[in-house]
Amino acid sequence: MENYLENTDFTRIREILDKSGRVVITTHTNPDGDAIGAGLAMFLYLKKRGFSVRLIIPDSYPGFLAWLPCIQEIMIFEEQPEQCRGFIREADVIVCVDFNNLGRLNELGKEVKSSDSVKVLIDHHLYPSDDFEFRISFNKISSTSELIYDFICDSGFKHLIDKEIAECLYTGIATDTGSFSYSCNYVKTYLITADLFRLGIDGEHIHRMIYDTYSESRLRLLGYAVSEGLTVLPDLNTAYIVLTKAVLKRFNYQVGDTEGLVNYALSIKDINLAALFMEREDEVKVSFRSKGNFSVDRIAREHFNGGGHRNASGANCETTLAETIEKFLSLLPQFSNNLKQVYND
Ligand code: 5GP
Ligand code: MN
Repeated sequence: MENYLENTDFTRIREILDKSGRVVITTHTNPDGDAIGAGLAMFLYLKKRGFSVRLIIPDSYPGFLAWLPCIQEIMIFEEQPEQCRGFIREADVIVCVDFNNLGRLNELGKEVKSSDSVKVLIDHHLYPSDDFEFRISFNKISSTSELIYDFICDSGFKHLIDKEIAECLYTGIATDTGSFSYSCNYVKTYLITADLFRLGIDGEHIHRMIYDTYSESRLRLLGYAVSEGLTVLPDLNTAYIVLTKAVLKRFNYQVGDTEGLVNYALSIKDINLAALFMEREDEVKVSFRSKGNFSVDRIAREHFNGGGHRNASGANCETTLAETIEKFLSLLPQFSNNLKQVYND
């Protein structure tokens, strides 16, 4: 595998950080385990180094991450915009983790864009934008958390990675690989994971905290989604789930309740493309997943103004639920050959 440590802005970003006092770290809306895991790991590392550092996120994190160390120190822009604005204005550097363009921060993105700070990116999504002065962007890797591990080690501070930082990094790696079932064909991911275990993390406990802490209504929503909300199109090797506003209300939807749901549609034999359509107040949130070499990043980017990874992407659409599904269905015939059989590369 290409050694990305040698041909990126690793050194520049390290130098910039070393010269700065006030650092803000931020990550994308609807943050997932890797966004929060990578963000918190960087936050705890920089705190240990003596920086004045804040982790500011656009909106709240899902409940299944609430046990992570120091998570209560995260500032949520939606909840305290004025304080967050102050820290962003005063920051020397803003470290953006686990997303590739400032649009992914919604309102918070405008604040970051207009601040005088140096913006740096540490991320593993395809097509990083030029919103950032310096970028560590590498997509052939399990997670941003893995990049943060490399960044800390490459900076000569491996000894600062303690059990708490290791728990954050492991959470990011485990969640972004679906518990080591995709984006995980890299030897290095397991070497890093072994290092994290050496620091005393309890993988079984972390797994239970992430996956076995469903509320009853979340489990019932999953049951509904699979039995009533799922449409399977065997001829197009596609399956999709639709959740209307009314259904989400009926099952008392909370942030994070649909995390991983789309993967059930993909778990059907010979289904190579899966989608989840969630009707929100003013938009439809779409998640795409695929197997093998079929790229859902392209579909999200070219047709829904979204993006992500080859096998996991998403978008937020301002069209109605019916229009969004209609558009998706109208695209499928052109991909039918590619969807018949996918290949691992
Ligand atoms: P999810 O479906 O789990 O929300 O997101 C899957 C992947 O797509 C994640 O890596 C996420 O960062 C990316 N993603 C989700 N929504 C959007 C979006 O609206 N725009 C872009 N560019 N990426 C997205
Ligand atoms: Mn990630």
